[in-house]
Amino acid sequence: MNTVAVLGGGPAGSFAAERLARAGLKTMVFDEKLAWEKPCGGGLTYKAYKQYPFLIENTTPKKLITHTTLSAPKVGSVAMPLSEPLVIYSRYDLNNMLLERAERAGAQIEKTRVLEVQRQDRGWALKTRNGTAEADYCIVATGARNSLKNVGTEYSSSDTACALGYFVPSEKEHIDIQFLSKLEGYIWVFPRCGHLSVGICGKGESSQALRARLEKYMQERDISWKDAIFYAHVLPSLESASWHRNRVSGDGWMAVGDAAGLVDPITGEGLYYAMRSGDLASQTLLSDEHPMEAKAHAYRSAIHHDFVADLAFGAMLAKRVFLGRMLFSTVPAQMVRFIRRSPRFTALMQDLFAGTQPYLGLKSRLLRSLEGSRHEFIMNLFLNELLPSQETA
Ligand SMILES: Cc1cc2nc3c(=O)[nH]c(=O)nc-3n(C[C@H](O)[C@H](O)[C@H](O)COP(=O)(O)OP(=O)(O)OC[C@H]3O[C@@H](n4cnc5c(N)ncnc54)[C@H](O)[C@@H]3O)c2cc1C
Repeated sequence: MNTVAVLGGGPAGSFAAERLARAGLKTMVFDEKLAWEKPCGGGLTYKAYKQYPFLIENTTPKKLITHTTLSAPKVGSVAMPLSEPLVIYSRYDLNNMLLERAERAGAQIEKTRVLEVQRQDRGWALKTRNGTAEADYCIVATGARNSLKNVGTEYSSSDTACALGYFVPSEKEHIDIQFLSKLEGYIWVFPRCGHLSVGICGKGESSQALRARLEKYMQERDISWKDAIFYAHVLPSLESASWHRNRVSGDGWMAVGDAAGLVDPITGEGLYYAMRSGDLASQTLLSDEHPMEAKAHAYRSAIHHDFVADLAFGAMLAKRVFLGRMLFSTVPAQMVRFIRRSPRFTALMQDLFAGTQPYLGLKSRLLRSLEGSRHEFIMNLFLNELLPSQETA
C-alpha cells in the first residue's frame, strides 16, 4: 500500500492523516472547506488532552474552564467545580491546528469536495470537484453529513439529534448546563475566546421546537441573539441496537469520527472520539499484525474495545438519564439535589465531566460506595435501580 486518501479534514481526518504521513505513507487529505467554524461547543475533556497532551500544550487560543452550573426545572441550579478543566476552542482554531500538524507531518492537503468514491480491482477511484484521483486505501472522515453512500454509518433518523445555537459576542467564566422538561438533550453555554457558544441538542424534536426552547432560555437570562451568529448541524446519537450493526469499515476503507457515528449519546462529546478513532484507524492500517483483508475487522475490534462498548452502553442509559423518573421527581432534578447533598455524587459527576468515569463502570462504583451516609445509601439504591446491568448491553 502506497497511497491513502483521507476524505474530510476535520479532527478525525486530520488526526489520522498526521499519523499516516508521519509514518511515511503518501497521504492526501480532501476537504471542501479546510479550517472552518464547524457548529460545535468546542469543548475538550480531560480524557482528550490527557491522551493527547498537545491539545492543551500549544499556543492556539483556548479557554480553560474550571466551574460549571447545572440546572433543572423545579429545582433551580447548583454550582460544581470541575476536578479537571474543560478546554474550549473555536472550531476554526482547533481544525486549523490539526490540519497544520498533518501538513507538517507530510500530508498533501487539497481544498475540494469528494463527489464519489468507487472501489476498483485494486484501490479506489475518487471523483472530486477538481478532477480525479487514485488511492490504495480510504479513510472516510466526512462527518455526520457524509454524502458518500457506499461508506460510513448508514444513519436512520432515530440515530441523530438536532443541535443548534448561537455564537454570542459576550464573556463568561463558567459553563452552564440546563436540563429541560421532557427533552432527551440539554442546553449549554460554553465560554470561548471572545464569545459564547450557546446551544441546544435534542432527539425526537423538530429544530423549530428546539430553537424556540433555546430562545426562551436566552430571553429569560438576558442573553441577546441580536448580534449573534446562528448555527445548526446534525449530531450523531446512535440507538443502542445501531451501535451493534454500525457500518464502520469495509473492503479498503475505515470510517472515523462522525462519519462512523462515534459520539457519546448522552453528552454529545465527539471531538475525543473523532481523534481517537483517527488514531486507531491509522495504527491498524500501519500495523504489520493484520493482512490487508483483515484490517477492516481489526479496526472494528480496536474501537469496540477502546470506547464503542462503553458508548453503546451509554445509549441504553440516555433515555433514562434525560426522561426517567426517580424518587417522585425527574432524574435531572434529582441529580441537581444529589450534587447539593452528596460529596460522593459530586465526585462521580466531576469524573463524568472529565471523561474518566466510563458508563460501564458506573453501577459497580455505586455498589462500592453503599457505605456512605443514610442519604447517600438511599440515593445509591435508586441510582442502582435506574442503571441497566452490563449484561443487558
Ligand atoms: C452543535 C454541536 C455542538 C457540539 N459540541 C461538542 C463539544 O463541545 N465537544 C465535543 O467533543 N463534541 C461536540 N460536538 C461533536 C463534534 O462537533 C463532532 O463530533 C466532531 O466535529 C467530529 O469530527 P469529524 O472530523 O468526524 O467531523 P467534522 O468535524 O464534521 O469534519 C468533517 C469534515 O469533512 C468535510 N467534508 C464533508 N463531506 C465532504 C466531502 N464530500 N468532500 C470533502 N470534504 C468533505 C467537511 O468540510 C469537514 O471539514 C458537537 C456537535 C454539534 C453539532
